[in-house]
Amino acid sequence: MRSRLLVVGAVLGLTVVTGVLIYQGNTEKATASSAASSTSGGVYAEDTADPTIPEVTAPGERPATNVPMTKLEPGDTPPQFIIFSFDGAGSHQRWNEFMSVADESNSRFTGFLSGIYLLGDEGKYAGAYTGPGHKTGAAAIGYGGPESEIVTEVNDLNTAYMKGHEIGTHYNGHFCDDAPPGGNQWTTADWNDELDQFYKFVKDWKTINGYTDAPDLIVPPETIKGGRTPCLTGKLDTLIPAWKAHGMTYDSSMPAPRNGLYWPQKVDGIWEFYMPQVYSPGFEGMTTAMDYNFWAKFNGARDEPDTAPELRSIVKGTYEFMFDQAYNGNRAPILIANHFNKWNGDSFNPPAMDFMKEKCGQPDVICATYQDVIAWMELQDPAVLQELLDRAPVAAKAPDS
Ligand SMILES: [Zn+2]
Repeated sequence: MRSRLLVVGAVLGLTVVTGVLIYQGNTEKATASSAASSTSGGVYAEDTADPTIPEVTAPGERPATNVPMTKLEPGDTPPQFIIFSFDGAGSHQRWNEFMSVADESNSRFTGFLSGIYLLGDEGKYAGAYTGPGHKTGAAAIGYGGPESEIVTEVNDLNTAYMKGHEIGTHYNGHFCDDAPPGGNQWTTADWNDELDQFYKFVKDWKTINGYTDAPDLIVPPETIKGGRTPCLTGKLDTLIPAWKAHGMTYDSSMPAPRNGLYWPQKVDGIWEFYMPQVYSPGFEGMTTAMDYNFWAKFNGARDEPDTAPELRSIVKGTYEFMFDQAYNGNRAPILIANHFNKWNGDSFNPPAMDFMKEKCGQPDVICATYQDVIAWMELQDPAVLQELLDRAPVAAKAPDS
């Protein structure tokens, strides 16, 4: 398969064991040089053939937030927010599937775009991207493919934005510990360089690629205010100055320093939505609540499609446990953090989609974007908000322990 999704899957590898971020190698991984020299990103190779997914079209005007912007009185119970996000955000089929389901409950989610998905073969061979510390053109994931696929991606981003979904960044070259230097080695200057290029691709992708009759990307670059680093790499003290230099206000990359679900915390002016480490009833133990990490814990991230029903059930059960603990407890926003992928026989889309169908739009439950949740938090009386932020974690252990 030359699908970019599979390339992404092959190079993404991390798991958190007792708070330490560990990269797990994968023999299928594409090296930076092989990815850079492949003939096509081909992200849509496996996606365009399925006729069962209806095309989702954008309305004429971006709708207002789906979060009721009201202030809590002291003692009021906050809404239960669920924040779905998808790294890479380069699959036409996934965009359509999740936008269709979100429509049913006026829900919103966030796509973290890999910037080089906006660079077609022309942009790639023109040397438009140089990852910090790497050769020009090198990347650990594929580029965007031929012009038709770039246009499809742009249309998907436009549709999502016009439906009120949020676009964030998954940076560019996806350089992790398997393709150093990456997020764990980069300095603030390197992150600034990576982000400069990301925003340049969003602004200038048509010029860079030399496309003369492609549609405009209508997502204003200044509305991209947060993201997730590849493989959750990087350190706050190196990243925060780069985020601030680019007008960014939040991040959702850092492995949580405490177990369990708790409210995001403001670190040096940036809202950090920590990637939670939670108890999973199916695993009978702790896990980082993210698709790849579930997979790594389940079978070492080996492709075993026959086991998909079992893994889906474990993931769904973990989501339900997280929900019950937060909803009946501290009401911390629940993060459902996935990639657009079909790993291990499509183990991760069905539980995320079922969870979205079952919970979003239920009483007091709002599936929202990061920025809309931030706007709601910043609307609150500071003392009321602080009480929420200070609430103790839930879902940090088995319910009866
Ligand atoms: Zn990734």
